[in-house]
Amino acid sequence: MSQPSSPAPVFNRKNPCAARLRSAQRLSRDGSPKDTRHYEISLEGSGLHYEPGDSLAVLPQNCPTLVEETLAALGLSGSEPVNDLDGRPVSLREALTTSCAITIPDRKLLAAIAARDSSAAATFEPLLGPDNKDALNAWLYGREVIDLLLAFPDAKFEPQEFVSLNKKVQIRLYSISSSLRAHPDEVHLTVATVRYQSHNRDRKGVASTWLAERISQGTTIPCFINHGKGFRLPAPDDDTPIIMCGPGTGIAPFRSFLEERRATSARGKAWLFFGEISASTDFFYENEWQDFLADGTLTKLTTAFSRDQDRKIYVQHRMLEEAADLWQWLEAGAIFYVCGDASRMAVDVDKALHSAIMSAGGRSAEEADAYLAALRDAKRYRRDVY
Ligand SMILES: Cc1cc2nc3c(=O)[nH]c(=O)nc-3n(C[C@H](O)[C@H](O)[C@H](O)COP(=O)(O)OP(=O)(O)OC[C@H]3O[C@@H](n4cnc5c(N)ncnc54)[C@H](O)[C@@H]3O)c2cc1C
Repeated sequence: MSQPSSPAPVFNRKNPCAARLRSAQRLSRDGSPKDTRHYEISLEGSGLHYEPGDSLAVLPQNCPTLVEETLAALGLSGSEPVNDLDGRPVSLREALTTSCAITIPDRKLLAAIAARDSSAAATFEPLLGPDNKDALNAWLYGREVIDLLLAFPDAKFEPQEFVSLNKKVQIRLYSISSSLRAHPDEVHLTVATVRYQSHNRDRKGVASTWLAERISQGTTIPCFINHGKGFRLPAPDDDTPIIMCGPGTGIAPFRSFLEERRATSARGKAWLFFGEISASTDFFYENEWQDFLADGTLTKLTTAFSRDQDRKIYVQHRMLEEAADLWQWLEAGAIFYVCGDASRMAVDVDKALHSAIMSAGGRSAEEADAYLAALRDAKRYRRDVY
């Protein structure tokens, strides 16, 4: 008699999977203004399972330099015992490292500083009213807890009180860039490291710099799977063509898609739009795309390197150049997937799709609207944008 199989483990924020970093590699070459990296994380023994189109939720830690600066501004040593925001007894340093979102000041911290410092009161009180959310967000843009503590040094706090004035460190989502069929017991990520300057300080994105700078082979990465509702491949025996548009780190799920389609000998045609700054420094996974083309997993690859010529060329420009082919694929029933930047890229890609339907499909603007709406209704226009 067969043994009943044990239920799959349930991982979430409270009970994350303790996966370990297996390897990390810089994808951006020397000379690139970006720092995009490929991470391979071991799932061995975890029972954690994912599908192409899922993302990995990662629970990161704050930068120790920022934690020390925050402690110094508070006039505290860090060894003070506190309960973190999940109620666990830890040192203040540990709470600031793993539990408190010290890069995103909470309005209760602003109110508490205003209550202790009259100049802070003059600054914050007009911002803290219920109708002033936009003004508050504008003031907070580019500022972290350290900026507030340094600007208003008269505001002092007991260690536990300070901890409770912060939000919890948030999970960060990353589109999975591997297929379990190609890499059993592994999950791969493609992450752009976030670094910028604001208010005369160098800033670090919490999770992306934790991955890039502060972990090494064997480090535990608390994580769980966020299931990608709707961002799914057709069945392998389905002839439906797929068009994948993934500039920048938007490429991640499409590496997963193509690995899966190779492993399952999927039948439909596949077209990939890849966009980055320059072919010489930022053509991530170039050899892999060439191999997918060579073995027929990928039918067509269209690239857009914005800075490789005088005029900036993005994926949406290539879509317009390829309007006739795009139209043919859509008419053949293709699913159009887009992943990556929500604020500009996804808007421009949407406009390009609309223009291609008008120019190559001979549709009016209203008819192109209706065509796109019908694609969405039929779940043939799928977006995973952030
Ligand atoms: C479904 C989904 C999938 C995703 N997949 C990927 C992926 O595959 N690869 C990937 O790299 N990312 C991906 N992301 C984004 C990722 O989740 C993180 O948001 C990103 O890595 C930044 O996180 P961080 O902790 O490093 O930075 P944070 O600490 O969150 O800092 C980023 C924040 O800093 C602020 N900021 C940034 N630049 C400036 C500036 N110049 N001035 C002032 N403020 C600024 C902004 O408020 C920004 O939101 C995905 C997001 C979603 C929702």
